[in-house]
Amino acid sequence: MASTGAGKKKTPDEFCCGDVEAMASEFVDQGLDEPLVVKMHRHLGFCPPCQSFVASFSKTVRLLHAMPRKPAPDGLRQSIMKRTKKRS
Ligand SMILES: [Zn+2]
Repeated sequence: MASTGAGKKKTPDEFCCGDVEAMASEFVDQGLDEPLVVKMHRHLGFCPPCQSFVASFSKTVRLLHAMPRKPAPDGLRQSIMKRTKKRS
């Protein structure tokens, strides 16, 4: 396995995959500063794994935002409670 962390060289101008992962949520929420967005895009330009990571991340975030925040209907909740109570 490739060692990550301690001895890793990192140029200040370029994002590494860890940076992309760390900032993915802010990136898809558009909460990232412009210069960082530029670096993000530059890294994504040559790193297919990060491309798919960010793509699936933004899909997940969109799904979360689309989810209505209302409680489960009574019937469903009761049947779940019944099922969880019944143990044996
Ligand atoms: Zn990468």
